[in-house]
Amino acid sequence: MSHPTAPRIGIIGGGQLGRMLALAGIPMGLEFVFLDPSKEACARPVGKQIVADYDELMALEKLVRETDVVTLEFENIPVAAARFVTERGQLFPGPRALEIAQDRVNEKTLFGGLGIPTPPWRAVDSLEGLRNAVADIGLPAVLKTRRLGYDGKGQAVLRKPGDVDAAWAALGSAPLILEGFIAFQREVSIISVRSRTGELAFYPLSENTHEAGILKLSLSRANDPMQAQAEAHARKVLEALDYVGAMGFEFFVTEHGLIANEIAPRVHNTGHATIEGNATSQFENHLRAILGLPLGSTAARGASAMLNFIGELPAIERALALPDLHFHGYGKEPRAGRKVGHATLVAPDAASRDQRLHGLLALLA
Ligand code: AMP
Repeated sequence: MSHPTAPRIGIIGGGQLGRMLALAGIPMGLEFVFLDPSKEACARPVGKQIVADYDELMALEKLVRETDVVTLEFENIPVAAARFVTERGQLFPGPRALEIAQDRVNEKTLFGGLGIPTPPWRAVDSLEGLRNAVADIGLPAVLKTRRLGYDGKGQAVLRKPGDVDAAWAALGSAPLILEGFIAFQREVSIISVRSRTGELAFYPLSENTHEAGILKLSLSRANDPMQAQAEAHARKVLEALDYVGAMGFEFFVTEHGLIANEIAPRVHNTGHATIEGNATSQFENHLRAILGLPLGSTAARGASAMLNFIGELPAIERALALPDLHFHGYGKEPRAGRKVGHATLVAPDAASRDQRLHGLLALLA
């Protein structure tokens, strides 16, 4: 029997982010209820699950009734469902953050209004509109669906005028955005957290490498020259949205400084190394934030790296033979392009971290 006073957290979505939230919260005495349409939701072993679609009102009502506070680990739930939850209980982050993060045009409009640099962009609703946008912005450029894009899906790079028709044929059935292509030096992200009390916390920057649009590798960056700029941009967004919880914010690094790419209104894949690599993980701090508890230190415990396992897991016994490696499997069926787990390396300094990383990459090769 659970203790009647154990705070219960409702989570919309039952994927690996939900699973890691529960793994962080259970030691604090929290209990978890997930709402997810899949009977194979990977958060199943760590809480109770309501199997239902994200817009099923009865199920949302039940989630609110059975918990003290609701959060989400998946940002593409209908905004109407989020509003329904806030009318009956507490949802952090709330509908406004979702409305912004779900639509790249809303997101870039917010960034622009806050003075945060973005790639040049135009909303595109027709082939003629695309041609005009290409004329305005120039090539190369990236055409993206405004909504529901993730892991590089719903995107096409236009390099020459002849690419316009094919990109329109591939993506034109949905509302689009054309962005100038940024010849970035690096891609970085910051995980920031804002509590119900307004308290803020920022993690050290993560430097990220994507493969075929999917995050492959994140390296923690102590004293990165872009840290202060990233914190300033994140703070503006968190405060403008009266945001509560952890937020991921991705940037391109250029010679002129940071250019904003996108926010994720939830814990973020580029923050997974914080589980072992920082004094308090992004997952624990997200839970503290939504409960209005004091936030924990984000200080790095050393130099960390996170490598995603995409498609399938390596043999655990070989991975764990590498020193300083922590193995995470999400209990998901192997499938091409699917994130099924990750490894974190935490070493005393960046040089030994990078050496360990070579061993890990060799293991996967
Ligand atoms: P996104 O889904 O917007 O995060 O895009 C996925 C990846 O595509 C990014 O992490 C970048 O590597 C690349 N990308 C997206 N937008 C741009 C851009 N405007 N310029 C250059 N690369 C981009």
